[in-house]
Amino acid sequence: MAGGNAIRGTRVGAGPMGEAERGEAAPRRRVAFWCAQAHETRVSFASEADVPELWDCPRCGLPAGQDQAAPPPAPRTEPYKTHLAYVRERRTDADGDALLEEALAKLRARRGA
Ligand SMILES: [Zn+2]
Repeated sequence: MAGGNAIRGTRVGAGPMGEAERGEAAPRRRVAFWCAQAHETRVSFASEADVPELWDCPRCGLPAGQDQAAPPPAPRTEPYKTHLAYVRERRTDADGDALLEEALAKLRARRGA
């Protein structure tokens, strides 16, 4: 059975007082954000509002961006990082090697004593 059964679109603003459908008064747009763990978050913004570049993922707290293919990197707070890794991160590799060398030298000296 076809015909006469078509879904009719709601005519917004066609009411007797010209009011829009409930919830449609302010035009909104939905923006999707993805975090580094691939959680998708959809946030609805008023169309005239500024959409932030980053959004905190409500599931894991990581920053989420609008590019699914390239989510913002997770902040470096990995709990199991060795002290040396931290040292290497804060200093140049050369500095890290020098520190390591120094530590080894002390170790050797102690062993030799
Ligand atoms: Zn997340």
